[in-house]
Amino acid sequence: MDLLALPAFNDNYLWLLHDGTRALVVDPGDAEPVFTALTQHGLELAAILVTHHHADHTGGVAALREATGAVVYGPAHERIPEPFIPLADGAQVNVLGMAFRVIDVPGHTAGHIAYFASDMNGAPLLFCGDTLFSGGCGRLFEGTPAQMLDSLDKLAALPANTRVCCAHEYTLSNLRFASAVEPGNAALANYQRECEALRAAGTPTLPSSIGTERAINPFLRSREASVTQAVQAHAATPTDEVAVFAALREWKNNFK
Ligand SMILES: [Zn+2]
Ligand SMILES: [Zn+2]
Repeated sequence: MDLLALPAFNDNYLWLLHDGTRALVVDPGDAEPVFTALTQHGLELAAILVTHHHADHTGGVAALREATGAVVYGPAHERIPEPFIPLADGAQVNVLGMAFRVIDVPGHTAGHIAYFASDMNGAPLLFCGDTLFSGGCGRLFEGTPAQMLDSLDKLAALPANTRVCCAHEYTLSNLRFASAVEPGNAALANYQRECEALRAAGTPTLPSSIGTERAINPFLRSREASVTQAVQAHAATPTDEVAVFAALREWKNNFK
């Protein structure tokens, strides 16, 4: 299997997974880069996996389905271009000989889902849309901090070697914030240097891994003393974990 990150718009990645003959694409906000990749690699599009309803994740769905007949899968509790197969927590999608398990991850949107495969070329694979980013997490447009914390807990519990395919290249700006929160985190400082070198070379910083994110992402580390204390120093906040997470998200929203 081959995994490609197709750049779209300013900072989106449309993830394309293929076996040399058939492909699936995740969150095609734009059809054009997908058509180009299908032609370039001589692929037939078998399936479209959608994580949530935002236009930068769904804008190309109708054109791709009409042109290729690909089956569309999407979140049961959101409106995406019909017809599609609605999926909720625990559902399984079988495509390209692989099985993807659906995980409900509300927070960025109310019905956001993620897709997890336990084995792609020997390691697990996660398509998490706008829920988890490298070094950050999605903004809370529709869900509550408690929901997002719970969703991120589910993703953090996946195997450390899970490759994390996020939908945006937000890594460097996320890491600037992460290092303001945890200036003493050596793993974070190393990772930031690696990612700066990748971006300087025009290379995606993604996929990341769950193990890396557990070590460097403040939104997966909000219960660590270093993060909790930084949040409490920044904003007088109650000590319960949801309030700390909410204040951390708010701090990031206003971080320049
Ligand atoms: Zn979104
Ligand atoms: Zn997005």
